Amino acid sequence: MEKYWNIFISSFTDYAGYLGREILNPHWGNYFYWLLGLSLFFWLLEMIAPWRQHQARIRQDFWLDGFYMFFNFFLFSLIGFNAISNIGVQAFNDLLGLFGIQNLVAFEVQSWPVWAQLLTLFLVRDFIQWNVHRLLHRSAFLWEIHKVHHSVQQMGFAAHLRFHWGETVVYRVLEYIPLAMIGFGIQDFFLVHIFATSIGHFNHSNIRLPLGPLKYIFNNPQMHIWHHAKHMPLKYGANYGISLSLWDYLFQTAYLPEDGRDIALGFEEVEKYPPSFIAQQWYPFKAKNYAPNPVEMEPASEDPQLKDPEEPELNSAVSL
Ligand SMILES: [Zn+2]
Ligand SMILES: [Zn+2]
Repeated sequence: MEKYWNIFISSFTDYAGYLGREILNPHWGNYFYWLLGLSLFFWLLEMIAPWRQHQARIRQDFWLDGFYMFFNFFLFSLIGFNAISNIGVQAFNDLLGLFGIQNLVAFEVQSWPVWAQLLTLFLVRDFIQWNVHRLLHRSAFLWEIHKVHHSVQQMGFAAHLRFHWGETVVYRVLEYIPLAMIGFGIQDFFLVHIFATSIGHFNHSNIRLPLGPLKYIFNNPQMHIWHHAKHMPLKYGANYGISLSLWDYLFQTAYLPEDGRDIALGFEEVEKYPPSFIAQQWYPFKAKNYAPNPVEMEPASEDPQLKDPEEPELNSAVSL
């Protein structure tokens, strides 16, 4: 037990030290300054060539989303996730040890060229995340957690990291075993994480950048805006892609009926959703808030341009 306690305490002190060093020492491998730089870059693009020109440069919830960005990227790790996940990993390894398993590595990728390792990590992780994102829309409880991200009513780059801390837990837990089986170490994550963060900022930004045929591979603002549509076109929504739109095209969950520049965003009764950070954190745990899952919801819109909500579910090709 003492071992777990020591891990718990040292996780806090290690991470606090790490965060301090990050802020004090700008360098190319520094998450803090990459996040800051990427954010300024996309903010500048939004100011120079906005897609929705009437949208304020400092849009609704801009500062709240800025706080979410810092919270989810750094503070949540500092406050607890780092400690809990370190204990989880240690306990999991101890459990495997009881069965005589030293590690989970099933595929040895360390001998591959670095580019092949990074590409594999990126593709595997993004595909897992696409599936987890679908799950967030399908489970009634997880949907309540995911609603924070969908409560955005004016879209901009900073909305990317507006999500409930519960999502971090769900994604990390479900990613852990498959990624550990491939034998990726934490040092592999930096480049992939920065690349994925760049695309995530891009997807949410208020800019228009046609990608040509690359739109079938990479997610983009013109596609992701439909994922945030207030009136979800299909039973569980569409366009679940995180970095890649490829999975949505492959598994027929892509939906771009028209230019989505000015569509209403959010969900039914988004106006009643709590506006403050603290209230949003508690929201999923208050049973009275349980709205029916989109699964059971009646068609949300009378808009004739939306597809028939009764049409057969599109994304049955992949099961979790
Ligand atoms: Zn979503
Ligand atoms: Zn989004």
